[in-house]
Amino acid sequence: MTAARVLSPSELQQVAHRRFNPLKREWVLVSPHRTERPWLGKVEKSATSSQPAYDAGCYLCPGNSRAGGARNPQYPTTFVFDNDYPALLPDAPDASLDELGLLVAEAEAGICRVVCFSPRHDLTIPRMALAELRAVVDVWAEQYQSLAAIPWIQHIQIFENRGALMGASNPHPHCQIWANAHMPNEAEREQASLQAYQGGRHSCLLCDYLKLELKLEERLVCQNDAFAAVVPYWAVWPFETLLLSKRHLGAMHDLSRGERDLLGDILKQLTTRYDNLFEVPFPYSMGFHQRPADRQPHPEWHLHAHYYPPLLRSATVQKFMVGYEMFAMPQRDITAEAAAARLRAVGPAHYLDRSSNP
Ligand SMILES: [Zn+2]
Ligand SMILES: [Zn+2]
Ligand SMILES: [Zn+2]
Repeated sequence: MTAARVLSPSELQQVAHRRFNPLKREWVLVSPHRTERPWLGKVEKSATSSQPAYDAGCYLCPGNSRAGGARNPQYPTTFVFDNDYPALLPDAPDASLDELGLLVAEAEAGICRVVCFSPRHDLTIPRMALAELRAVVDVWAEQYQSLAAIPWIQHIQIFENRGALMGASNPHPHCQIWANAHMPNEAEREQASLQAYQGGRHSCLLCDYLKLELKLEERLVCQNDAFAAVVPYWAVWPFETLLLSKRHLGAMHDLSRGERDLLGDILKQLTTRYDNLFEVPFPYSMGFHQRPADRQPHPEWHLHAHYYPPLLRSATVQKFMVGYEMFAMPQRDITAEAAAARLRAVGPAHYLDRSSNP
């Protein structure tokens, strides 16, 4: 441990830090400074109720004021701001704690931002125009680059929670970006696997995996010239998907202009199929994994996104990770191959845009 001093008991109750779980050998992020956050999710009538284009009570809509007192500009496309209730703050003390390897904690610094995809309160990714999606991709790439330029940042996590079921506190289409000083569990684990595979076989785990999936086509959901989405062989969530770039690259700003357009296209294709599955705005948590922002080259990294949707058989039957899954391992009934076939079968046109709909 290299921190300058020991974290005090009062700091443990006040500042963001991560604690080590010596049984599982992984970390948990603790954000005691984060007070009451606004929650709009529960007042939503149902998953299927339509939203207005502008909501005077929404803290993400253009021109409205937010809980912290700031007022949003009349933004015409995308809008980025620092989260009013950040889980991480940039000015963490240089302090840590280690009691016999059992009580292990480190203060954690970070930056949390919110990205509104569109000024429209009711516009979701599957229903956005390709040019609008391209603007979102450009913002993601810019944000990664500017956050990666901050010397103490190691990891940048872009993620979207869609739907109250996934804990999204506001239906306005947006995502979050958390950038922090240490590699989190999931990224660290994947990093080790990508590195080990590259060391052993002198090729990329995800390039080789994608090649196999494109040959077999059994778990392929949709693709274009630059990206493919598959239900991964090892999928845990019923309709989990893995979105992979066809070219080997580690971060979004390495994408060419054409590839950025095609990233928007594949996001639209995939989320349209999700919505079509049960003809509802399909809830999910999605996140991009990009190479660490530690200024090392990381040739082993391959840009991808994971989609974890909680729905099982219909708009109301939810998959929970409980019982055996909490204590032993995840379990699923529908196979990855059957899930991919269902997602292929629902068709590429959004159910709300079909001519049979009024
Ligand atoms: Zn809104
Ligand atoms: Zn690769
Ligand atoms: Zn990943």
